[in-house]
Amino acid sequence: MSEERRPESPSPPPSPFKGEGAEEGNASFVGEGARKGHVSFKGDGAAKEQEHIALVRERLAAAKNVMAITGAGISAESGVPTFRDDKGLWQKFNPLDYATREAFRRDPVKVWKWYDERRVNMAQAKPNAAHQALAAMAQPGRRVFIVTQNVDDLHEQAGSKEVVHIHGSLWRIRCERDGTVLENREVPLSELPPLCMCGETMRPDIVWFGEDLPWQPVEQIRHYFLEGPIDLCLVVGTEASFGYILQWALQARESGAMVVDVNPRDTGLGSIVDVHLRGKAGEVLPELL
Ligand SMILES: [Zn+2]
Repeated sequence: MSEERRPESPSPPPSPFKGEGAEEGNASFVGEGARKGHVSFKGDGAAKEQEHIALVRERLAAAKNVMAITGAGISAESGVPTFRDDKGLWQKFNPLDYATREAFRRDPVKVWKWYDERRVNMAQAKPNAAHQALAAMAQPGRRVFIVTQNVDDLHEQAGSKEVVHIHGSLWRIRCERDGTVLENREVPLSELPPLCMCGETMRPDIVWFGEDLPWQPVEQIRHYFLEGPIDLCLVVGTEASFGYILQWALQARESGAMVVDVNPRDTGLGSIVDVHLRGKAGEVLPELL
């Protein structure tokens, strides 16, 4: 169905923004945008596309502060399997067997074998033109703050400096007993499951089904919003079906940002979006530079 990378989960984890985002319905955003004088450029015609690109390019050229919210669509172009679309991981695997705390308690080795295989595949993945374009947008005098739902490190590999992972990282492991978090890039893992110094089995540091977003990235994002107006918010390769994604896009808009949706398909962003750029991130983003 979607190319969304859920937080490894078929249903959104409880979010600190619950009730303020999607759950209240997109309709409430319609009047808001109109009152703030945002102009909508949602024409579907290919002829309009260049016009839209030009608009966003112009905004970017003058921007001092850019927020990018990225999802599975951007990594899919690097060959990283997605979760929900036709070829997605959840077509082959039942998420309840791999991406829940219960599954992990039941059979940590089975869960770890699955993650180990994903890590082996991920170790081959390289950033694509979309990651590179976002990295290139950060220049002296222009901040680019990336919030990603992806558990890979392709943004960092491309050279982006400010990257917040809200759904965790495949390259970190965590002990639930004492809270130890370690970076671990060994592929394949020599020890399954990896053990903490305290003797406890360590888990992937990834947000699973039914788990809350980790507080640290949420705090980083909260601080970012306090740090000044945002000129441009690019929502890339995510269908934005989580309330908190909508909430952040809306906050960026209220902070003054032009909100741009880069996706070949329709997304849940609705009227929060000022400009839809329909296309693959790897093709659209380089055009903005
Ligand atoms: Zn421990």
